[in-house]
Amino acid sequence: MTKVLTAVIPEPGATVELREVAEPELEENSALLVVELSEVCGTDVHLQRGRLAGVPYPLVPGHVSVGRLEKIRGRLFDVEGRELREGDRVTFLDVHRTCNACWHCLVAKATTRCPARKVYGITYGLSDTLAGGWAEKIYLKPATRCIPLEGVDAETFMAGGCALPTALHAIERARIPLGATVLVLGSGPVGLSAIILSLTSGALKVLCTGAPDARLEAARAVGAHATLNVEAHTESERAEWVLSHTSGRGADVVFEAAGAASAVVEAMRYARDAGTVVVVGQYTDHGEVAFNPHLDLNRKHLDVRGCWGSDFSHFYRGAQLMADPARREPWSRLRLERFNLAQANDALDSVASGRVVKALIDPRG
Ligand SMILES: [Zn+2]
Ligand SMILES: [Zn+2]
Repeated sequence: MTKVLTAVIPEPGATVELREVAEPELEENSALLVVELSEVCGTDVHLQRGRLAGVPYPLVPGHVSVGRLEKIRGRLFDVEGRELREGDRVTFLDVHRTCNACWHCLVAKATTRCPARKVYGITYGLSDTLAGGWAEKIYLKPATRCIPLEGVDAETFMAGGCALPTALHAIERARIPLGATVLVLGSGPVGLSAIILSLTSGALKVLCTGAPDARLEAARAVGAHATLNVEAHTESERAEWVLSHTSGRGADVVFEAAGAASAVVEAMRYARDAGTVVVVGQYTDHGEVAFNPHLDLNRKHLDVRGCWGSDFSHFYRGAQLMADPARREPWSRLRLERFNLAQANDALDSVASGRVVKALIDPRG
């Protein structure tokens, strides 16, 4: 029996361990993907610490990955009807089983809230199958949406990784006016992709607050005009800094990609009157926070929007951007750090502390 090496979170709060598991039998219209690269993101840190509900441990993390189709049973097609072949380099939408039959899918048109939805590396555990990228191979179940990656290497694509569709969805929610001043709270991968995509969408100036300094340097490298270290400045200093860069009015659009509950209130305070706030950083429950509905929201005539997950359209358009050499260039300025499966715990620590800008998992490393 062929064995596959995986890195597994056995239970909430436990360190990652290596396990060898049997290579799964393929069902009709499924495939086996040899992983070239996966990644470590903030979600994986939450998963290891047990801060997400409904996770079936033991779990192989790694929800966005790139690899080559090693074996296909039956036939697989991409969204444009082209048949996929063994040997093709692909990525795949980590979201699986969105039903297109429920109230959320058909009436609300909010497929990211579909109750049937499963996510590789997050809500599919090891008992389901080999469903995470921190492994030599991933089993692509029937109806997994693959996207061929032609003309872009695995590393460049993964420099965007899961942050790219997330940020793309947030940008879609924001409807940035041409020539706008955008403020991004947070300098992690989602914040960095939001900076790049804001500029692509016609923002004239992008400001970014975050930490540590290495990530703010990355923010400037991808196009932020000015950055501020949140750890070195008080909230009133931060507010003053935003006003000094926005003619005293606040930013036209503010993205909250920081994660702390208090960042949502700050985002509202840093937006101009009749501006827009998109909340994209609250992936786990960080508790409650107080705000003044009159001063912080209604009198400002603010538009505050949540943004949950991403769907195939965001993933597909992200892949299209990455296939274009000029469009993907800003991501190539990000410093990437590779870890092999045995170094997964180091990789998690590096992401949790913000020491690395972007951590990749190379199962063959
Ligand atoms: Zn992620
Ligand atoms: Zn549904």
